[in-house]
Amino acid sequence: MATATSATEPTTGLADRFGRVATDLRVSLTDRCNLRCTYCMPPEGLPWLPGPSVLSDGEVGRLLRVAVELLGVTEIRFTGGEPLLRPGLVPIVAAAAALSPRPKLSLTTNGIGLERLAGPLVAAGLDRVNVSLDTLDPDRFAQLAHRRRLPDVLAGLRGAVAAGLAPVKLNAVLLRGINDGEAGDLLRYALAHGYQLRFIEQMPLDPQHGWDRAQMVTAAEILAMLEAEFALRPDPEHRGSAPAETWLVDGYADPAGRPAKVGVIGSVTRPFCGDCDRTRLTADGQVRNCLFARDESDLREAMRGGATDAELAERWRAAMRSKLPGHGIDDPTFLQPARPMSAIGG
Ligand code: SAM
Ligand code: SF4
Repeated sequence: MATATSATEPTTGLADRFGRVATDLRVSLTDRCNLRCTYCMPPEGLPWLPGPSVLSDGEVGRLLRVAVELLGVTEIRFTGGEPLLRPGLVPIVAAAAALSPRPKLSLTTNGIGLERLAGPLVAAGLDRVNVSLDTLDPDRFAQLAHRRRLPDVLAGLRGAVAAGLAPVKLNAVLLRGINDGEAGDLLRYALAHGYQLRFIEQMPLDPQHGWDRAQMVTAAEILAMLEAEFALRPDPEHRGSAPAETWLVDGYADPAGRPAKVGVIGSVTRPFCGDCDRTRLTADGQVRNCLFARDESDLREAMRGGATDAELAERWRAAMRSKLPGHGIDDPTFLQPARPMSAIGG
């Protein structure tokens, strides 16, 4: 049986060979999803992870404790697949909120079901939410996500606000010829509702291998489209390890009365790997040191084989030490990771 590690054991963080220290953990709670966004999943879905290979709620809770109490993780973001589909999400958030020092807790979701779950999640300790919204047009939503669920997403957004999750952030991916004409409309919608919008460049993480560098809507194009309709100024606030470059939108304020912002995450054309502070845990208990890593480190089998907390922590540290300096998407030798975004956790 696994033994608990005492709080007196030395704690050393998740440092790599390039001076970066990971303090931000992305946890995928399931690889399943109720949408089929074309840049993420084929319309027929994917072969889901077999049930026994997925970590139980207790196993997730144990690894979160190791991450926070032994490895210095200060922020945890729950993602997937669609994390709202995980039956144990609320108790998992509550267990994370009980850790010491208490980590910041956030969720990335497609918003379906958030209308009902936002209240219980806030009560459990959730601090922030990011909701993915690529279009405001119901038909285009169905074309992009292969499901007619736009009203559920919008209801989820309202539920998040009603539950006190502020600021609600929106994530949008623009696809050429599909929703790339909507940049301005999405920003207008976000500003009108007090949501903070960030555009994400499409990355090569779809299992269909449909990503095409030449077709990708770049950060520069997104900015040009926004600047055609809004007056933007660079955000004077220090970016730190945040992936989004942000701009202030002249003439608009957020619900707290501060200048409204819009963000662009140029993962491909403006990589931020040098400032990366992330570590990742998949739903089946594999540590990944990067979204684009080719290797994973198996904590599930170590844990099920009786590893102590200290041994799990050391495995996690070793996995992070081998983190590469960058994702290398622009390198001719670049290879897409074997697992798609939905299985890694976006
Ligand atoms: N299902 C949840 C959602 O959609 O928000 C959480 C998981 S999803 C994989 C997390 C984020 O990754 C979403 O904002 C989604 O738009 C983004 N994403 C998925 N595939 C992507 C890709 N190929 N390139 C860029 N972003 C992607
Ligand atoms: Fe599902 Fe999120 Fe992938 Fe869309 S981006 S298919 S909502 S996991």
